[in-house]
Amino acid sequence: MTTKNHLENLVGNWNYPTAIRFGCGRISELADTCHELGISKPLLITDQGIAALPMVAEAVNICKNAGMACGVFSDIQANPIGKNVNDGVTAYKEGRHDGVIAFGGGSALDVAKAVALMVGQDRPLWDFEDKEDWSERVNVDGMAPVVAVPTTSGTGSEVGRASVITDESDHTKKIIFHANMLPAKVICDPKLTVGLPKNITAWVGMDALSHSMEAYFSPFYHPMAEGIALKGMQLVKDFLPDAVSDGTDLVARSQMMIASTMGATAFQKGLGAMHSLSHPCGAVLNTQHGLTNAVVMPYVLERNREAIENKAVELARFLNLPNPSLDSLLKWVLELREQVAIPHTLAEIGVADSHIEELSKMAAVDPTVGGNPIPLGVDDMAALYAKAISGNI
Ligand SMILES: [Zn+2]
Repeated sequence: MTTKNHLENLVGNWNYPTAIRFGCGRISELADTCHELGISKPLLITDQGIAALPMVAEAVNICKNAGMACGVFSDIQANPIGKNVNDGVTAYKEGRHDGVIAFGGGSALDVAKAVALMVGQDRPLWDFEDKEDWSERVNVDGMAPVVAVPTTSGTGSEVGRASVITDESDHTKKIIFHANMLPAKVICDPKLTVGLPKNITAWVGMDALSHSMEAYFSPFYHPMAEGIALKGMQLVKDFLPDAVSDGTDLVARSQMMIASTMGATAFQKGLGAMHSLSHPCGAVLNTQHGLTNAVVMPYVLERNREAIENKAVELARFLNLPNPSLDSLLKWVLELREQVAIPHTLAEIGVADSHIEELSKMAAVDPTVGGNPIPLGVDDMAALYAKAISGNI
């Protein structure tokens, strides 16, 4: 149990995995952070919703007051497509920028990281998909430096080395990867998340939980990631309900921002079927990523039962659940989902039986499927979708 006592001063400078300036109000250090990377004319990349908020104008002003001309590119959709990245590259080149401020939720951060990669490449975006040795194709010297500023607490893309972008030619989500896509500097300012509506707070918070949970159960050997995943899940348990019920609770907002960063740090160990099922729904039906993960979470836990039962005891014990077991973990997940208003079925977010055939083929080859504790093929995915649509765990 983590209590709010003795957590009054939530500020720190962390260098694992990335140099992170953490704390309320630290967006004021944006210009200094750009200077450290030699950026004097940044392009701030964000989505259209955020671009209209005062926080973007403030960020641009912080740069201008420090003598930096800061451009803004915001032509990005919720499940970003290749065109969004290409348009960002054009804006970067036309404005003669020398670095990127990745500002926003997962979609904006992913596009910004991909733009920073692509400004120095001659090949098309899809040549840098996370396959075999394709990352060796990257001209590292051409990549732009990135300062990442998350404004939601969920994806943790600020500490990730990849971007998820939808290939509009076949409606599949592709992972663009290079180790140097890890942003060089991060500013985590929990105050930037205060205006997030309740539903988005819940959805992205559940995404953070799914990252830690899938990483924890994935079969690869990475005890460091497991430790981070455990703590990340505990923070979600203790602080997500408060962050949802009172968005101005800065302690809850701070702890959820850490939980998000921790989830993405942990999932270097692997993700699993929650994400394999969720990605096709997002690519084909434009469902919200974290919400979709949250809906399928208990169905996947139950499907993986035989492989995760022992580890679930350890997790349930760490989370201080009564009668630690997979059953108590499932009970907690169901209660948490209800508490933060996550629907119980995929049907409630627009997924129908008629979609199962297309989605299950995509889920079975999703890049995350290899991290699931048990192998799952097309038929297994179809059965999971059917259960999650009908609500029968
Ligand atoms: Zn996710």
